[in-house]
This record gives sequence, structure tokens and C-alpha cells, in this order.
Amino acid sequence: MSDLMADPMSDAPQKGALFIVSAPSGAGKTTLCNALQSRFKSLAYSVSHTTRSPRENEVNGQDYFFISKEMFEDKIRNGKWAEWAKVHDNYYGTCAEKLNEMLSSGRHILLDIDVAGAAQIKSRFPESIAIFIMPPSIEILESRLRSRGTDKEEEILKRIAHAHKEIAGSDFYDHIVVNDRLDDAIKALSGLIRKYTGDDEKHV
Ligand code: ADP
Ligand code: 5GP
Repeated sequence: MSDLMADPMSDAPQKGALFIVSAPSGAGKTTLCNALQSRFKSLAYSVSHTTRSPRENEVNGQDYFFISKEMFEDKIRNGKWAEWAKVHDNYYGTCAEKLNEMLSSGRHILLDIDVAGAAQIKSRFPESIAIFIMPPSIEILESRLRSRGTDKEEEILKRIAHAHKEIAGSDFYDHIVVNDRLDDAIKALSGLIRKYTGDDEKHV
């Protein structure tokens, strides 16, 4: 984001806990975030906007808001993003107005965003809790991307190349959770949510 742009979140209130979860694509972030959402009813998931095409089974407004490149760039010019980044040649962003509304509601918020976006949110909201999901190895990451079966070979190679950069840039995160056995990773993440919110699972 340009330093010259007015900060769209400068007076945003922060009442609930703000969790940032990042991971290289294929590390299991969607699986883990879904598990957390079904366990912690007090957690509000922030639906991002993207210019990438929907995958099979993805629902507009639920997984992402799918918008055009022109619309995304227009919102960059108008300072409408709380954070945004270009990932794997597509734009992704968190709408400032929507994030503001969620922050005002006092709910705990879960942002599933990349490392560049996480750095922007962390500098605006130093109290936010940044969690990086680490794959057990690059080989396992690659095999998960292939077994997911949603991306073409070219996309998979792009995601693996990007994963190296994301892992290298992950030192500012407050917590690293390795997603080896799914149950263990869910337990570790649930422990962090309980620790920072004081909420039990199924808390409404
Ligand atoms: P991301 O959202 O990080 O791109 P996904 O949640 O889509 O990743 O997971 C990528 C693939 O790996 C999916 O097919 C998912 O079912 C699988 N997966 C996720 N976590 C694990 C795990 N701990 N062990 C084995 N497979 C996993
Ligand atoms: P995917 O295309 O696999 O759904 O996501 C690719 C990457 O974009 C993931 O690392 C994901 O966390 C990231 N991403 C999703 N939404 C946002 C967002 O709103 N902002 C930023 N900066 N990254 C996002």
C-alpha cells in the first residue's frame, strides 16, 4: 500500500481479539480456519475480496467476494482496503469498511491473509495476534496442493515458489503452528483462541 494514501483504518476501534492467520497455499489454512469457525461461534471470519477466478465449490460472498481487476484497482486508488496484496498474480484485499464494522461489533475476528497483508495489519493493530501455519515440509506442501486437485500444474509451481518467500518472511508472527497431524494443529490453534479470548469452544 502506498505511504501517501490516507489510512482508511486510522480511527478503527478494536474491542475483540484480532487474529491473523497466514500460511503458504496448500498448508491447510482453509481446513483449519473452517474447523476453528465451527468450534468457536464467537469468531467472525472476514471474507476477503479477490480478482482470482472462483474454484469449483467456492461461493461468492462466502469464500471470497470475486471482483474484477478494474474494480479492485479503483478501490486501491480510493483507499478502500484495510490491507491488500498481489499474490500469485491476483489481487487480494480486506475491505476497510467491513473490517471496521466487525471491529466495532466487539466480535473476535479471524483474518486469513498472506504475509504482506499480515505485516500491514500488524503495524496498524499491534495488539493483533499473528499466527503462521507451517507445512511439515515443502514436499508435503506440494503433495497437498496436488491432492487438493484445484490448481493447474503452473499454479502449483507458482505457489511452491511463493511458499519459500512466505516462510522466509514469517519471523514477525507471534505464533507458528505446524500442520502435520490435523488434530494436533486444530488443538494448538484452539488453545491460542482460548488463551487470547477467554472463550470456550461453542461460546456464542
Ligand atoms: P490452504 O487453504 O492453506 O491453501 P487447504 O486447507 O485447502 O489449504 O488444504 C490443502 C489440502 O491439504 C486439502 O486437500 C486438505 O484437505 C489437505 N490437508 C489440510 N491439512 C492436512 C493435514 N494436516 N494432513 C493432511 N492433509 C491435509
Ligand atoms: P487462495 O487463492 O489459495 O485462496 O489464497 C492465496 C493466498 O491469498 C493465501 O495466502 C491467502 O491467505 C491470501 N489471501 C486471501 N485473502 C487475502 C486478503 O484479503 N489479503 C491478503 N493480503 N491476502 C489474502
